Formats: sequence, structure tokens, C-alpha cells
Amino acid sequence: MHFETDAIHAGQEPDPTTGAVTIPINTASTYAQETPGAHRGYEYSRTGNPTRQALETALAVLEGAGNGGAVATASGMASTALIGYLLAPGDRLLLPDDAYGGTFRFFARVLSEHGVHWSTVDMTDTGVTDRAFDEHTRLVWVETPTNPLLRLVDLAAIVELAHEHGALVVVDNTFATPYLQRPFEYGADLVVHSTTKYLGGHSDVVGGAVVARDSEMFERLKFLQNSAGPVPGPFDAWLTLRGIKTLAVRMERHCDNAEAVASFLEDHPQVAEVIYPGLASHPQHALAARQMARFGGMISFRAAGGTSTAHRVASSTSVFTLAESLGGVESLIEVPAAMTHLAVAGTSLEVPDDLIRLSVGLEHIDDLIDDLERALRP
Ligand SMILES: *Cc1c(COP(=O)(O)O)cnc(C)c1O
Repeated sequence: MHFETDAIHAGQEPDPTTGAVTIPINTASTYAQETPGAHRGYEYSRTGNPTRQALETALAVLEGAGNGGAVATASGMASTALIGYLLAPGDRLLLPDDAYGGTFRFFARVLSEHGVHWSTVDMTDTGVTDRAFDEHTRLVWVETPTNPLLRLVDLAAIVELAHEHGALVVVDNTFATPYLQRPFEYGADLVVHSTTKYLGGHSDVVGGAVVARDSEMFERLKFLQNSAGPVPGPFDAWLTLRGIKTLAVRMERHCDNAEAVASFLEDHPQVAEVIYPGLASHPQHALAARQMARFGGMISFRAAGGTSTAHRVASSTSVFTLAESLGGVESLIEVPAAMTHLAVAGTSLEVPDDLIRLSVGLEHIDDLIDDLERALRP
């Protein structure tokens, strides 16, 4: 089946008892058994829930997980934390030097307290990354495109390197979504998502998922999901699943609008620099074209005039809402150094103070451009 079809049908057969065409929100915490231990696949809702199961099946199919599968979690960070349980004291992981701030905070400030070591590395440079491995390196955390600098990591190259060194590769696929990029096709071991963003797509639910390509790793993740228990509730799973049904059409429009906004900004005299993988001026445009179906809905730019101008522009839009997060139908604007990336200030992940990040939504393109035109007026 094609992606669009799977997004609507995978794991989402009509309900066998009522014929309901959408998956019901199963709120039961426990399930009746015929005789002790004999049940219809569900015993207790932390272990398994039919609504969550539908979401997990859909995610696994969309990422192309093959023999593996997906576990859904209560947030993207809960998925990151589950992956943290794969590491033992003395293990080391490599983090990108540009990444979601919360990911860095979890490994640098939480897991490090449990004896797990970390280093940041510029993963856009394969030679530098190669030299960063040592015999304790068990895992490589990849984000591509990165947040907020929209750098790309060559997935095929990094997977080859990591596997040579005996390390697992985790790809945070939140920005691209499986519609634009499928890391398993490049040999990645795990895909992680904040489903809060494009997959949910409507800024109305927080969630996450880890997807494994291999059945043994999937069983391990299921064991961890049940043991640690960071599961999403059935209503949250249902909202995410509803979002996924329209992922393909939403992503096409996000990409259309972002391409138009990026070229508008690139030609604007009040803009010093535009970072968008779809622009020929992006240093990794060719890699983006090879690795992604299109270039996504996220744009970063620097206003001519520095930090105070960036703050003024971000506070002056009316269609773009000044807010954290991304990937919803509504356009958002933010200043990462003062908002989403405060947690990485003073670290190797620090971002420029004057950087503005846009999550380009699905409003009419003329309204989006008019809004930015007005906000950029000196
Ligand atoms: C938001 C985000 C996360 C964290 O997800 P939550 O759902 O907020 O816990 C992780 N990675 C990326 C790239 C994100 O944008």
C-alpha cells in the first residue's frame, strides 16, 4: 500500500463488534478473562490497550519497521527516557552538537547521574564523527534536520560508521516525519518521535514513540514500556492517530508554504541569512534532496539588526503565533535562544541569540507572507 493509504488504514480496521470505521477510545484499565490467564490479547491497559495498539501499528507501518514495531509513550521525552534504559553505567553515547534541547538535558543532566557518559560531535562531518568513537560508545543519537539550525546528517554514512564501531543508531525523525524521510531505509536501528509535532499535527496532544526495525529490539522496548510505564492515555493515542490520517496532505502543504516563505525571506533586505534545506544556498541542499522526499515546514533565519530586531520581529506577527513547539496546522514563530533552547545556553549546543525559528503552518500563503512583511518592516 502507499503511504497515504496506510496512514488511514494501517491498524485501523473497522471495529469487529460494531463496524465503527474509526478506532474507539478504549478507556478500560482492565479486561475480563475466561479462565486465569486466558484473554483476548488484552489484560491490563499499561501492558496493552486497543486504541494505543492501533496507533503503534500505524507508526510501525509508516516507518517501514518490518519485523519490528512501535511503542507509544506519553511524550517525546518519555521515548528518549525509554531509550536511555538501553544504556548501562560506563556506556557512552554520541549526541549531535545541534539538537532538541530536552534531549541534551536528559542525557547530560539526568542519565549522566547514572554513570552514562556522553560527548557532542558535529555529525555533519563524518571524519570528526569517526574519531569521536571509543570502545565504550554504544549509541549514536542523530537528529536530521536538526533543531533549530536545520543541518543535515548523512544517514547512510553515519549508520555505516556507527555499525563499524558496534553502536546503535537512533534517529529523531520528528522534523521530517516518515512522510519525508524513513531512517530504516538507511539502516538506522531505532526511530524516535515527538508525536506532539507533525504526527499529531494540531497542537492538541503531547506524545511520543520509539520504533524498532528488529523484532528482538522491539520486544525489549515493549518490555521497557510495560516495566517503566510511560504510556499515553487512550484519548491521547486516539488524537494522535486521527492526526496521522492527514499527515501526507498536511506535509505537502507545509512544504509548499515553507518553500514560498523561504524564498520570500531570502530576497528580503531586512533578512541577513535564511536556513532552509530546500534552498540552493543551504550547504547541504544536495544531501537533503537525496535523503528527504521534500524539505519540510521548518525555517530558521537571522534578521539584519541582531537580537533586539529578532525579538521585535517575533513579537510583531499576528498570523504567526509567538510560541514554542512546531508541526501544527497553525504557524508559529519563536526565538530559540530565549525560548526552546534556553536549556542549552552556555553548552556546545548554544544557538545564536538573533536566530528566529518558524514552523510554517497551513494558512494561506499570501497571509503568511504579508504577516512577515509587516513584522520585518523597520
Ligand atoms: C519536541 C521535540 C522532542 C520532545 O518531545 P515532547 O513531546 O515535547 O516530549 C524531541 N525531539 C524533537 C526534535 C522535538 O521537536
